[in-house]
Amino acid sequence: MSAAAVTSAIRTVARGAKHWPHKSPALTKVVENNPPLTLSADHDMPMGSWSSEQIRDAVEASVMLTWAPSKARRNTPILTHGEGVYLFDDKGNKFLDWTSQAICCNIGYSIPDSVIEATTQQMKNMAFVYGGLGIPEVRARLSKLMADILPGDLQGMVFPSSGSEANEAAIMMARRYTGKYKVINWYRSYHGGTTNAQQATGDYRRWFGGDLVPGFVKAFNPYPMFWDFAHGDEEERTQMALNMLEEQVLNEGPDTVALIQFESVVGGGGVIVPPKGYMQGVRAICDKYDILLHCDEVMVGFGRTGRLFGFQHYDGVLPDIVTAAKGISSAALPISMAACRKHIFEAFEDKPLGWGSTYQAHPVAMACAYENVKYLIKEDIIGHVQRLEPVFEHNMKTISENHPSIKQYRHIGMFGCFDAHLPNGENPQLQHTAIDKAFVEYKKAYTANGLIGLMRPPHLHVAPPLVISEDELLDGFERQDKALYALDEALGF
Ligand code: PLP
Repeated sequence: MSAAAVTSAIRTVARGAKHWPHKSPALTKVVENNPPLTLSADHDMPMGSWSSEQIRDAVEASVMLTWAPSKARRNTPILTHGEGVYLFDDKGNKFLDWTSQAICCNIGYSIPDSVIEATTQQMKNMAFVYGGLGIPEVRARLSKLMADILPGDLQGMVFPSSGSEANEAAIMMARRYTGKYKVINWYRSYHGGTTNAQQATGDYRRWFGGDLVPGFVKAFNPYPMFWDFAHGDEEERTQMALNMLEEQVLNEGPDTVALIQFESVVGGGGVIVPPKGYMQGVRAICDKYDILLHCDEVMVGFGRTGRLFGFQHYDGVLPDIVTAAKGISSAALPISMAACRKHIFEAFEDKPLGWGSTYQAHPVAMACAYENVKYLIKEDIIGHVQRLEPVFEHNMKTISENHPSIKQYRHIGMFGCFDAHLPNGENPQLQHTAIDKAFVEYKKAYTANGLIGLMRPPHLHVAPPLVISEDELLDGFERQDKALYALDEALGF
């Protein structure tokens, strides 16, 4: 067949296609999707003036929870306001925030005027600039401030809106910088709820569907939950954990591994601090095999551990990438950070990072973070954490000795965790299992004693706002001590 004949045959087929009978189904369910757009009178009432019933009705009708089944919304308190380290509900109850909510409200609820004024001013002046379209002064300032306070040559800055997104940016940085794709994370870690960050996660939260994403490999952290590498010998445990990690890298293929991404201190998984020498060993493995090291500081960054960043506890270790969120703005506005070292920063001069979002580098959020971090430094909040640390530790120890339901505790800075156990020494529940009734009893007692906070049984976290006074801290431990009698009893001691 000649070329002209072929073209004509194709045209015939194409023209014929136009005449195929239209068999798509007709709309059978007709819904009125253009109702009149009106505001009900409820929405004209000033904020703070709805009754508890109005709030509950709207919650019942439309509020969805995320990590918990949504029916839990019916028992979630209606919080009206905060002050200092306290939160208040619509029934007039005053709660001491014993975990800074999700370990994020680091300066509590009396937000400094400097933060409020800077965010208001930015909102008035220019609420938004799309990251690629223009650069507001606050972006330059926040980038410089972060580069000034981070050690070494950590100087390239991206400011997404959440910890998960910061970790997405970090993973993309590593993959595009190294040309490799695998990421190694610990079991018993959490890195976020977006696709890659959820898959990077080593706890149950990746099972919701994140587990379908390829390219992520899990390593044991040096403290597995049910067994010990080395019968309590710290040095041997460290060496064994490092040997295992190196062997894992070799088996995965060093030419495929882009990033080792660990929480500097495992937070939600139970305040797990790596043993002495471990992080130095991980840095050495990364250097040996050209793998980037990423410390996820989303939970512990900005002072929680008594240093600005958790990795600063590991002498001589400089990560290639650091992510942070939460404490960067003390959660007053959503903002996070992905910082990288000079060589990575420079590598993106001629190619895009390949990650972005409309709200990255949001000017109002950056103004909030800028003033919040200046406040942390000027008010020496980290010094305050260091000064209170002995009191914190002493109380963790006293409580664990006072309650048979507490097997052990760990702490660093103002971040502590008790592990509960059963009379036979076994674990009463795993984090992913339905909350055991003993912990329901404990939570009731916790609330009755005026505490509010995150619950991750069998781990019981302690992480009050970093600005807490010594008296408030002692009061918090006293309340927890009282609540723990309910757990002792409920677990059968
Ligand atoms: N990384 C760590 C260590 C976290 O603790 C969290 C949240 O708790 C995240 C990442 C995710 O941050 P976000 O919830 O802001 O997305």
